Amino acid sequence: MERYGKVALAAALAIALLSEVAVAQSKKAAGKAGASAKNVILLIPDGASLAPQTLSRWIKGSALSFDKYTCALVETHNSDMTIADSAPAGSAYATGFKSQTGNIASTGKVYTAPGISAPAIGELRPVATVLEAAKLSGRSTGLVCTCEFMHATPADFAGHDPSRKNYDGLSEQIIFNNVDVVLGGGWSFLEAANRADKDNVIDQIAARGYALVKTPAELKVSKATKIFGLFAPKAMAYDLDRDPSKEPGLDEMTSKAISALSANKNGFFLMVEGSKVDWAAHANDPVGIVSDFLAFDRACNVALEFAAKDKNTIVIVVTDHGNSGFSIGDRSTNGSYDKTPYNTFYDPIKKATKTGEGLEAFIPADKGNVRDVVAKYYGINDLSDEEVAAIAKAAPGALNAVVGPMMGARARIGFTTGGHTGEDVVLSVYDPSGNRPTGVIDNTEIARYIERSLALDLAAATDRLFADAETAFGAKNAVVSVDATTDPANVRLVAKKGDVELAIVQNRDYAIVKGIAKTAKGVYVLGKDADGKETLAIKADGVSLYNGKKWFVSRNLIDAIK
Ligand SMILES: [Zn+2]
Repeated sequence: MERYGKVALAAALAIALLSEVAVAQSKKAAGKAGASAKNVILLIPDGASLAPQTLSRWIKGSALSFDKYTCALVETHNSDMTIADSAPAGSAYATGFKSQTGNIASTGKVYTAPGISAPAIGELRPVATVLEAAKLSGRSTGLVCTCEFMHATPADFAGHDPSRKNYDGLSEQIIFNNVDVVLGGGWSFLEAANRADKDNVIDQIAARGYALVKTPAELKVSKATKIFGLFAPKAMAYDLDRDPSKEPGLDEMTSKAISALSANKNGFFLMVEGSKVDWAAHANDPVGIVSDFLAFDRACNVALEFAAKDKNTIVIVVTDHGNSGFSIGDRSTNGSYDKTPYNTFYDPIKKATKTGEGLEAFIPADKGNVRDVVAKYYGINDLSDEEVAAIAKAAPGALNAVVGPMMGARARIGFTTGGHTGEDVVLSVYDPSGNRPTGVIDNTEIARYIERSLALDLAAATDRLFADAETAFGAKNAVVSVDATTDPANVRLVAKKGDVELAIVQNRDYAIVKGIAKTAKGVYVLGKDADGKETLAIKADGVSLYNGKKWFVSRNLIDAIK
């Protein structure tokens, strides 16, 4: 194990120096002809179908911040299935590749959807994201969400794995991918005791030069341009349930991310996710859906206000897939839909001051006064005896799925499913060049649009960051083996030729080197071994990955072997 804590300062300095070199080298790319914008802010209200957007507008009482920029519909299907989960849906926006259930920024295995074919690059293979390509162009990058930061949508932009469930690997990849600003929840997933690899990941964040913040007050005063802000052990609260002294709002996080990232003259890419619109939709809780959608709308407003002043920023607002079959009007309005007053659909929802999830903390253990508590916080004052009994019986963490449909019935909101749905979703784009997508487009086109607008090259980025290691080292007559014994939690790919040896650590952005001079380009002191001898490493352009069959590493590591 490297003693990261002890050499934190040295490592942070080395990385700061290296990243300055990287920025200087790539300035040409950022200014390259053909870019129509300097910055892109992509905002995703996860799992928000069209109807909740309509109802949110009614409840807001005025237009949503992005209404006037609505320009297209987006198809959300997978490479093999009609209905997508967040992993392939967000990956399509991030990489321009269709994939399958659970795939994070990697190609899929099965390509059977009408009109598509398997990518020539191979199956279950990492493909570069617009965030990674933006970073290679010298731009700063950021991820903001209200879920744990290694959850599918944020992971889609800075992680790669055939499975979204690999939280240990994805969290480490996001940290070692040098995303400048990461704001959201999920610090408990970084604690060694909760990780199969038992790594002390929190120390590593600090060692990499991040300001580590845990409260809204710390976030507010931070002047850092590299910030890791984690405000909850797992997901953050719904906006309606949020304690503003403990967790910042999505709009505050968006604002801080923009001010930190816009310090880079080369520009930035930022992804902002209103994560729990989707979670409330799974629970069929219209209060959670609408209130978190309106919190998302406030974050969009922050982005649009910045873009209006900056005049060099594209703002894209689009959900990744539908969820719940939410409808304004349900079976109770069958014969009276055109005689149902406006407020029927929103008055009950407006009375709630907590979501179904937030309500849970107020239900007493003895379930003594369910009726009063639900009336006070959720606005329903006519619960039947059966409903009271169902609420009393709700399993921990499942109350929103019990009271949500009760609210739906009162507000005449219909739900057809507690899962995702396969219809098109709405795209809104502010593009100062006027060059935005229109018509019905495939979700992969969002990545291609960002690629064009920032003059990125996703294929070149994939080639530079994720070369097939065995093939590439083999071409240099280097001998390749896997070392799972030196540090079993962090398996290494070892490439050896003559005196030169590279031990490439999985999910990280470096290789431990032997036989290369300390003064060689890109080489820095990683730490010291038990005998006080310096461990040298070479920084990779990206994170090194193992997909269960093959290793994928940055070209500059391969180039370290002559
Ligand atoms: Zn989703």
